[in-house]
Amino acid sequence: MSDAGLDLFPTMMVLLAFGDAWLLDGQRPPLQMLHRTCGHACSPLVVCSACKGPIDARDVQYRNGPGAGSHTHTVERKRSRRGSDPMALERGRPCSVARTLRIIGDRWSFLVIREMFFGVRRFDEFQSNLGIATNILTDRLQHLAEHGVLERRAYRVRPERFEYRFTPKGMDLFASMIVMMHWGDKWLSGGKPPLLIRHKPCQHDFHAEVVCSHCRQPLLAHEVNYFTRYAVDGVMAAYAVPRPAADLDHAPDQPA
Ligand SMILES: [Zn+2]
Ligand SMILES: [Zn+2]
Repeated sequence: MSDAGLDLFPTMMVLLAFGDAWLLDGQRPPLQMLHRTCGHACSPLVVCSACKGPIDARDVQYRNGPGAGSHTHTVERKRSRRGSDPMALERGRPCSVARTLRIIGDRWSFLVIREMFFGVRRFDEFQSNLGIATNILTDRLQHLAEHGVLERRAYRVRPERFEYRFTPKGMDLFASMIVMMHWGDKWLSGGKPPLLIRHKPCQHDFHAEVVCSHCRQPLLAHEVNYFTRYAVDGVMAAYAVPRPAADLDHAPDQPA
């Protein structure tokens, strides 16, 4: 895998955590993570790169970065491209990442959520900011409401007007958004991030960092093991994801 590919690991971790938190319908999470660096079961935590404190969507300010303004609105094709079979994402193994992507995986749903984190609430604002066709916007708002990410609220009675607000579940997507944003800034912006974010509590520009909930060290792909909690071919697997071979030679917890 390329460096950019490996660096998607934190994104996968936060999507997994979101799916575990919201999309299990009362079942146990399919995977349990073990952080080999500290030896503890853990979950990913998103913190500010500057102060290492937790990040709340309401504590973040946005401003244009050096790469701002270079994008153009693309016009959606005639037919929706949401994909024919959303369940296909989860074929093979139960997966909280796949479940999360069923909600935010298509481009327009993702952009609607992003706009909402920038404070957009109303239909015509979404439309003018995104250059999105009304029927597609209606469809995506409905899709996100069906999945409990946002809700439609009347803000005026006569004439009746609605706006869209995050549910707590929707607010919880913020961590995933800013982790993905950091990946894009690092690998796709040519050193010119389009957007800069500032953490109000510490007053520093920051990016999202994904750390171990136990020891607060960054979670790296080769330092995390997984226990599966579902049967593979009828057998419960201890480690679905093997350790990289090169790592076995000097792993500290290897028996002599
Ligand atoms: Zn901070
Ligand atoms: Zn740890």
